[in-house]
Amino acid sequence: RQQLESGTLTGNSKLELLAEGIRLMQHAVNIESASSIQRVLNATGVILHTNLGRAPLSAAARTAITNASGYCTLEYDALTGERGKRGGYAEELLCQLTGAEAALIVNNCAAAALLILRVFAGNGETIVSRGELVEIGGDFRVPEVMANSGTTMVEVGTTNRTTLDDYARAIGERTRLIMRVHPSNYRIVGFTTSPDITGLATLAHESGLVMYEDAGSGVLVDLSTYGIAGEPVIRNSIAAGVDLVSFSGDKLLGGPQAGLIVGRCELVDRLRKNSLYRALRADKLCLAAIEATLDAHRRNAFEELPALRMLALEQETLESRARDFAQQIGAINPALACDIVAGTSAVGGGSGPTIHPKTGLIALRHDNLHADQVAEKLRLGSPAVIARIADGRVVIDLRTVDPEEEPELLEALKAL
Ligand SMILES: *Cc1c(COP(=O)(O)O)cnc(C)c1O
Repeated sequence: RQQLESGTLTGNSKLELLAEGIRLMQHAVNIESASSIQRVLNATGVILHTNLGRAPLSAAARTAITNASGYCTLEYDALTGERGKRGGYAEELLCQLTGAEAALIVNNCAAAALLILRVFAGNGETIVSRGELVEIGGDFRVPEVMANSGTTMVEVGTTNRTTLDDYARAIGERTRLIMRVHPSNYRIVGFTTSPDITGLATLAHESGLVMYEDAGSGVLVDLSTYGIAGEPVIRNSIAAGVDLVSFSGDKLLGGPQAGLIVGRCELVDRLRKNSLYRALRADKLCLAAIEATLDAHRRNAFEELPALRMLALEQETLESRARDFAQQIGAINPALACDIVAGTSAVGGGSGPTIHPKTGLIALRHDNLHADQVAEKLRLGSPAVIARIADGRVVIDLRTVDPEEEPELLEALKAL
């Protein structure tokens, strides 16, 4: 209205002025809604895209969240009518799936590490290899978490080689814990060595120390058929004698953000009783989604978990989907030219840094718009579409687009 009155709006007729005014208002609305948390179509091919919320949840987990949204049996036992145990069923599933005696669930894996270090080594030293001083995106840095927990970090070995003897020599009166950290988002290759986890756990126990492994992604079963190798399988760590293992809920587990802790009963009980746990424990929506996710793992129903389903998609399948989709684009928007090019997707979320699943990409070229303009228009649509730009073209990877979302993606491309 101000622009109309001051004559800064351009147009030759009242109708044109009105149309311009409406366009500006639409733009303002788009910008306002773009700053809230909204649903997006992930056309990047990065499966655990941290900026887009990491693992997409299964249908069962989404239903579980809806069911838990009102009143629910969070800490209520319907059998006895008495107070129940928060997270009890999810903990039971975790024990079944990992062979551990006990489990505990907190906000995220960073919280798990903080809690464990604080409770078992806050008044002493923690030994860690120089090759494992990880930084995960979003400010999780092992040395800083250690400092926050109160423990004194004792680094041993070198970046590429750390031996059992290095650990043994560092053990002193104030040592409380040995920490093994999975190098989730990087690999050290070449002239390297690190002691196997069984040896490390034995050393810890001989010296009266707690052995803790921060496993990061934490896969529950061998995922080598999905091309995932080199991720610690939690059950193996427990079997090797590790006292406590922590891992994330929203990486390769395919669930909501959560920090899952499994290990020896007596130690998990000490974590549960510490007041810091009260500050870090998971909420009802998270616990409901974790239960549903773990239940899919228990039934070996991996195809129900979108992250694993997307990871398993073969290049031929993706290429054929891309070809079909490109044809539809050509039919609805003559200004868009499409090429199918070979490329790679990514696991993302700081997992599987050396895994690049092959895919078929749809590369777009618009008659009148630059790649940047195409990408911006897609981002500001509803739902927003997030795509990559490569070699001056917007590229779409259907690996992370559910087939059911394809009509919406097509609509967004039609609107260009
Ligand atoms: C991802 C990761 C974390 C942090 O986990 P969040 O669940 O994101 O807090 C900690 N340690 C390792 C080794 C990781 O891979």
